[in-house]
Amino acid sequence: QCVRQQDRQEQQQGSGSKEGMAGHQCGSVLVTGANRGIGLELVKRFLGKPNPPKTVFATCRDPEGARGQELKSLTSKHPNLKILQLETTDPASVEAAAKKAEAHLGGSGLNLLINNAGIMPPCTLESATSKDMLDVYNTNLVGPMLVSKAFLPLLKKAAHASQQKGMSCGRAAIINMSTILGSIEKTPESYFFIPVVSYRCSKTALNMLTKCQSMGYKEEGILCTAVHPGWVKTELGSDQADLTVEESVNGIMNVLCNLSEKQHGVLVTWEGKVLPW
Ligand code: NDP
Repeated sequence: QCVRQQDRQEQQQGSGSKEGMAGHQCGSVLVTGANRGIGLELVKRFLGKPNPPKTVFATCRDPEGARGQELKSLTSKHPNLKILQLETTDPASVEAAAKKAEAHLGGSGLNLLINNAGIMPPCTLESATSKDMLDVYNTNLVGPMLVSKAFLPLLKKAAHASQQKGMSCGRAAIINMSTILGSIEKTPESYFFIPVVSYRCSKTALNMLTKCQSMGYKEEGILCTAVHPGWVKTELGSDQADLTVEESVNGIMNVLCNLSEKQHGVLVTWEGKVLPW
């Protein structure tokens, strides 16, 4: 439906954009790891929507540092952009960000939480150490768990206040940025090309977290979905990747627009296809 509305709008405006969610009103969204890569592009897309969210929380580890400057430069054009410091592995930082978001929302809830921050250091079965494994788990699994927990009261508030009946990103949702590399069933297709053992294991665990969240938050009406963005040209994905950030995020925006109960507790690709766990 959103794509059809977007198509109509594009025809009227003569725009070539393929971005979805045009007809989808989402009051507030929060993206972690938003200072570069997929996270930054998601923030730009939400801000650029014809009906942008009232608040876009873009969080990053060091908003004042060199890596925060591109994100910071967007604030002059977008008063609805609120940048928050958030180191996803630090409980104090996560709690402080949740408190700031709550104060900023002034009684409203948070509609959409995108757990995007992640790392993928090289790691083989031969090289893996205890520290390597735990560091990656900390960022890719513990981080999304802590952030989801801290923002849960705001997500619940949004779900309860919403006029919408079913599940959707416009009502209340947790999106965990996962990967096909975390799919156990798909591992034989890519293992020898890119082993990254710690990353694969951490994302498989993130998939399980998504499934657990989908069970635990179903009654609250909070949609929980894991998304594989494709192989994307970012620092993490490298220059060799298949997709530009724009192509991947075009797809993700369309997917977010169309998510419903059907994708609750499911891993879907940037094109909306269901992947096996
Ligand atoms: P990038 O390396 O381009 O960006 C990663 C982002 O995560 C940066 O903003 C980084 O911040 C942030 N980050 C890392 N660790 C933390 C932390 N502890 N706390 C807060 N922020 C943190 O990666 P991508 O944009 O490519 O990846 C985004 C997500 O998509 C990841 O979860 C990744 O696993 C997933 N993905 C990516 C694919 C790809 O091909 N690119 C494929 C499949 C999944 P800082 O600048 O401070 O380091």
